[in-house]
Amino acid sequence: MITAVLCAAGKGERAGFSENKILRELNGLPVLVYSLSAFSAKADEILVVCREEDENAIVRLLSPFPNARTVRGGAFRGESVYRALEVAKGDVVLVHDAARPFVTRKIIDDCVESVGRYGSGVCSLPATDTTVLAENGTVTDAPARRTVFTVQTPQGFYKDDLLSAYERAFADGTAERFTDDGSVYAAYVAPPRLFTGDRANRKLTYPEDFRPFDRTGFGVDTHAFGKAQSFITLAGVRIPSESGLIAHSDGDVLAHAVMDALLSAAGLRDIGYYFPDTDDRFAGADSMKLLAEVLRLVRAEGYAPLNACVSVLAEKPRLSPFIEEIKGNLAAALALPTNAVGVAAGTNEKLGYVGEGKGVTVYATVSLAKRPIGAEE
Ligand code: MG
Repeated sequence: MITAVLCAAGKGERAGFSENKILRELNGLPVLVYSLSAFSAKADEILVVCREEDENAIVRLLSPFPNARTVRGGAFRGESVYRALEVAKGDVVLVHDAARPFVTRKIIDDCVESVGRYGSGVCSLPATDTTVLAENGTVTDAPARRTVFTVQTPQGFYKDDLLSAYERAFADGTAERFTDDGSVYAAYVAPPRLFTGDRANRKLTYPEDFRPFDRTGFGVDTHAFGKAQSFITLAGVRIPSESGLIAHSDGDVLAHAVMDALLSAAGLRDIGYYFPDTDDRFAGADSMKLLAEVLRLVRAEGYAPLNACVSVLAEKPRLSPFIEEIKGNLAAALALPTNAVGVAAGTNEKLGYVGEGKGVTVYATVSLAKRPIGAEE
């Protein structure tokens, strides 16, 4: 059985915040929710170690995670971890800083595997900078870079080992000295085993670390006039037209450009790959339904739209009376407020195929925010 111990008893003083930084929002969700989501798939029990003044706020975040509960922390990090170890039910414990929201499922799996094979697993990265030891501003030693690693969390151990290491550290009066669990384990049990983490698993420390973490995508689509039909469709809105746009689907050129922008931002293949025009299932398809399907694919990758911008190039028909409706439909489809969606429309000054009134081209950009893995909308 596995217990995850999430350390959330810090004050966030370095970040200069008045509240605990793990309660601050990152891309619209409290930081703590990210690690709760990440560990809930693997851990049988999650103990969130917190200060008394944060406990009510944290308990409110735990309702989607039935295997999680709070434990009151101590005066310093080691005492907080020790209090969680005293009540943990698991034989394996994974101790993680809740201020590292971007921990991945692979890191958690690797941590558990390392405990099984070596008795411990400490998430770490090889140093990329040269590091030196110094005193009073003067270098005293420069260890070879290949021997230097930075240590992150999670750090996994058998509970009895780590608990006994802490008991001895408290008995010796050294417990306050250790800044992580691997060093307590090293002092009283054995040298801990390192496994390779991920640069994305960074610790949120300074105010700039809380800026939205996003990706940008771009999409473009063109369809030609010529279908015997009295309207064209843009973001599901029917706009009167001398002729319709030729397409296998409903020819919603705007929805198609947005779909490609979304897929591209998430690092996925294009719409032709997911919805081939050789497939009869997509004949006359409602492209806004396909857009909803694309949004599911993007969310499954752990992203959600932050904003979208489209630019429509069309000599005809007149679009200005329909812009607000297009904008509203697109915002609703992407679960965004309308002020996060921009729709511009223009002619091509009679130049080229657009200017000759032969077709419509739409360009779209979107940005995506990283969401907690496993979080459902
Ligand atoms: Mg298309």
